[in-house]
Amino acid sequence: NRPPRRPIVAGNWKLNPPTRSEAVTLLRLLVANFVNHRDGNEYPDDDDASDGPEVVIFPPLPYLSDAIRILEGSGILVGAQDCGMHDGGAYTGEVAPSMLLSMGCSYVLLGHSERRVHFGETDASINMALRGCLDVPGLRVVLCVGETLEEYENGMLERVIDEQLSGCLNNVDASAILRDGRVVIAYEPVWAIGTGLVATPSQAQAAHAAILNSLSRVLRCTAGEVSDGAIRIIYGGSVTPDTVLGIMDMPDVDGALVGGASLNADSFTRIYDGTN
Ligand code: PGA
Repeated sequence: NRPPRRPIVAGNWKLNPPTRSEAVTLLRLLVANFVNHRDGNEYPDDDDASDGPEVVIFPPLPYLSDAIRILEGSGILVGAQDCGMHDGGAYTGEVAPSMLLSMGCSYVLLGHSERRVHFGETDASINMALRGCLDVPGLRVVLCVGETLEEYENGMLERVIDEQLSGCLNNVDASAILRDGRVVIAYEPVWAIGTGLVATPSQAQAAHAAILNSLSRVLRCTAGEVSDGAIRIIYGGSVTPDTVLGIMDMPDVDGALVGGASLNADSFTRIYDGTN
């Protein structure tokens, strides 16, 4: 049996909502919901809160400082949806991991399939960004992997995940992952993202088991070291308050990465309840 891991529920807002005032409204609703959840008590200091799932919101970059200010003391952490691979210098338009930490971000989301498909990110570029994030103490990463429908139907799930993990985690210190738990893996089957097609609990479990298996090869350690380690694997793809329970029931599912349903404070709060 694996040691207990703290669940995570993460909300990926993508390129929404369209205006700052709508973002502020959503943030305030989230605070109201989450503080109510604790019978009016505020969460203990952010990531020291060891009771209940960890909650992270990934808003678009322009809303990060509002999110950090409004969510302060609520126990909800903030992350960026991507970051650049350099830590400073002549790179117009880029965002450095150290900048994100210094403004109060706890997490960076990396390797989302939308970044891969629409913006040309590759396992190699994701690897550079990931190593840059791990060079900044205090910053943690949610690394997305997942196969397309065609790959799934052709029985390529294991191979695709193994390739993505070995590329993205190339030359990454295994202890940052296994001992410090600084990398959370998000299994996001591309065919389930924004499609309403959610993986069944057993499909998610099989993929998460494949990820654990692949990690021992990629990190050059034993299966026991991986399963005893601090690694957490969360599921993403059309998660709703109705589907989260079955998925969370699986032994190797440690939480959810929620897109569409994270734009509604009540749905997101109900999903949180399902991960608790
Ligand atoms: P979805 O998105 O929940 O809208 O399917 C998930 C994601 O892309 O992280």
